[in-house]
Amino acid sequence: MVQPLSYQYPDSHVFYRKLKRRYSCIVKGDGVYLYDETRRRYLDAAGGAMVANIGHGVAEIAEAVATQMAGIAYVNGTAFTNRAAEELAAELAEVLPASLRFSYFLCSGSEAIEASVKLARQYWHARGRQSKWKIISRTPSYHGNTLAALSLSGREHYRALYQPLLIDFPRIPAPDSYRHPGCEACTGEALEQEILKQGAETVAAFLAEPIIGSSAGAMVPTKEYYGRVAEICRTYDVLFIADEVLTGMGRTGKWFACEHFQIQPDILVLGKGLSGGYAPLSAVVAREEILAPLAQTSGGFNHAQTYSHTPVICAAGLATVRYLKQHKLVQRCHELEQVFFTKLSRLKEFGVVGDIRGKGLLAGIEFVKDPDTKEPFTRAEKFAERVTDAAFRNGLILWPNTGHVDGVNGDIVMLAPPFIIREEQIEEMVALLERSLDQVATEAQSNCV
Ligand code: PMP
Repeated sequence: MVQPLSYQYPDSHVFYRKLKRRYSCIVKGDGVYLYDETRRRYLDAAGGAMVANIGHGVAEIAEAVATQMAGIAYVNGTAFTNRAAEELAAELAEVLPASLRFSYFLCSGSEAIEASVKLARQYWHARGRQSKWKIISRTPSYHGNTLAALSLSGREHYRALYQPLLIDFPRIPAPDSYRHPGCEACTGEALEQEILKQGAETVAAFLAEPIIGSSAGAMVPTKEYYGRVAEICRTYDVLFIADEVLTGMGRTGKWFACEHFQIQPDILVLGKGLSGGYAPLSAVVAREEILAPLAQTSGGFNHAQTYSHTPVICAAGLATVRYLKQHKLVQRCHELEQVFFTKLSRLKEFGVVGDIRGKGLLAGIEFVKDPDTKEPFTRAEKFAERVTDAAFRNGLILWPNTGHVDGVNGDIVMLAPPFIIREEQIEEMVALLERSLDQVATEAQSNCV
C-alpha cells in the first residue's frame, strides 16, 4: 500500500524535493550563518547552492528591492526598458571582458543556458549558415535541469529517467587533471575530433564551464587547454559559450573564471551570484558581433519570457553588484584563497580524501577508497551523502555531488562560502568538516564489526 504523504508531513502542503525527509525551517540568515526556527545555527559553507556570495541578511539589498518594488515592480521587456536593468547592464559592462557588453536578463541559470544556445543558433542562421545548430558540451558537466539544459549536461543520474525527452547533443569528455592528466580531453584535441566527426558546418557552439562546477568538483583545466579550445573554435567557426552561472561574479577570485585563462567567450552566461540569492536572476551576455547580424536580419532576438529584464529582480542584481564593488569582495575572495586551501589541505590526513582542488573560494573535495589507485567508493556506499549528512548534524552545510567518475560512481563535496567569511570562520568550517569525516570513519568501522 502507498503510504500517504501526510503521514510524513501532517502539517504541510509543500511539495518537497525529498518526499521522505523532514526539513528544518530556516527563519533567518546573517553573514555566513543560517538559523532555523528552533534557533539552531548552521554555517553555510556552500552558499546554498554556490549562490550566497555576499552572505545572508544584507540589509542594503533588501532596501534596494523594496524601493524598486514600491516604484515599479514589473514591466514587460518587449514594451519597455527600466532603470534597474539599464544600470545593472552598465555595472556589469565595467567588469566584464571588454568585448562582452550586452546583457539579457532572465531568472534562472537553466533558462539563460537555453537562451544562449538559441542565440548561437540564431546568429548562424542570420549569417546565412542555417546548417549550424549543434552544440557540443562536455561530460561531466552541469548546465541546468530544464529539458534542453539537461540535454546539454553530462550528469547521468539526472538524465537517466528523462532520456526519452532529451535532445541528443554531442558531448566530449571534460578535462580531468586528477584522474587523466594529459589525455586528449585535457589538451583540447577531443573538441577538434568531435567537430570533425559532426561536420563543422553543423556545429554552432561549444558550451563549457571554464572551471567545472559541482559536476566535476571545481576542476581547473589549464591555460593551454583553453588556448587550444579558442583556436579550434576560431578555425571551425564555432562559438564559445562560457557557462559562468556558478563561477561568475567573483566566486573564483576574479570577476569571471574565464579571466584565469585569458579567454574571451562569444557568449557568457551568469546566474547564482549575480544576485547572491536575493532574487532569481540570470543573464546572457553577448558580444556586439553576435547581436549585429540579428539586428540586421530579423531585427531582434527571437526569444521572450514574461520575467525577462524585470525591474524588481534586476534591482536585486544591481544592489548585489554594487555591494561586491563597494566592499571589494572579489579581491577579498582572491585574498582568502590561500588561507582557505591551506586549511583545507589538513583534510589530506584522512585516507579517504583523494584530491582537494579549486580556485578562489570554490573548492571540491574528492573522496576515494584508495588515494594511491584513486579507486572510487561504490555508489551503494553513498559516501558523499554520508559526509554531507554528518556535516549537517554538526551544523555545517555542504553541497554533495556524485557520479562524476563514470556516470555512477564518484563522490565529491563542494565548498563555496560567502566572500565575507572571516579567517576564524574558515577555521570553524574546516574543524567541523574534520569532525564530520571522523564520524563517518567511526560509523564505517562500527558497521564492519
Ligand atoms: N550552469 C551551472 C554551471 C550551474 O551550476 C547551474 C546550477 N547549479 C546551472 C547552470 C543551472 O542554474 P539554475 O539551477 O539556476 O537553473
